[in-house]
Amino acid sequence: MAVSRVPLIAGNWKMNLDHLQAIATVQKLAWTLKDANHDFDAKGSEVAVFPPFTDLRSVQTLVSADKLDVVYGAQDVSEHDSGAYTGEISGAFLKALECTYVIIGHSERRTLHGETDEQLARKVAAAIRHGLVPVLCVGETAEDLEQHGPSAVPVAQLRAALEGLSGSPDIVVAYEPVWAIGSGQAATPEQAEQVAAKLRETLAELFGQETADATRILYGGSVKASNIASLMREPNVDGALVGGASLDVAEFASIARFQKHVGT
Ligand code: PEP
Repeated sequence: MAVSRVPLIAGNWKMNLDHLQAIATVQKLAWTLKDANHDFDAKGSEVAVFPPFTDLRSVQTLVSADKLDVVYGAQDVSEHDSGAYTGEISGAFLKALECTYVIIGHSERRTLHGETDEQLARKVAAAIRHGLVPVLCVGETAEDLEQHGPSAVPVAQLRAALEGLSGSPDIVVAYEPVWAIGSGQAATPEQAEQVAAKLRETLAELFGQETADATRILYGGSVKASNIASLMREPNVDGALVGGASLDVAEFASIARFQKHVGT
């Protein structure tokens, strides 16, 4: 991993942990990392959690009152800013809760909620409009992998979601092969690196080398404390989006502290 990019270890809680459980979990996570003298910068990693919407106010209150180093974001955002969109959450509301990030285009939203590339591009634009950093998820299914090879689908999804953006957008890209999510079968470091390198090449083509070099590309899919160090050794892998393992504080803290077990 290039030294100039602060690694990001992000926990996607999905539809788990209510607001009371969220308070206990974030508190325990912050204390675990503090006890271990975790560096929340390039020497260690930035640590982010993505709780359900209903937890965000509680997490905000805790993080701000106790001045915790953990940052947080939402799992989705509306493409609209306000109006008659029952059930949708505006980026403005997330910003008001001091969210740093928002996940956009998780494979579960693409498949279970039928979110299209065009809609995701509008969500990315909405996030940026409200000063949130999109964590844009891209990734191929097992069938895509067989038919099109490893990077064609993720690269096409990246191009589509960033359509219309210019300048140097502040985004995070999460490469999450669908076949690796929740399957217990993570991509190999070489597989993750191969696609991450292609994604960075595409970012360079779209926004220039400087922006591409500054953009963090995460790997997601069955990341655990036992495989994070080898993934993080790859030059284009700048962190991880962690699902299941982020619900276990000790495991997630150990993932965040991957620098301590590089070489294992
Ligand atoms: C995810 O949900 O984004 C994910 C990567 O899940 P898991 O770590 O459980 O595979």
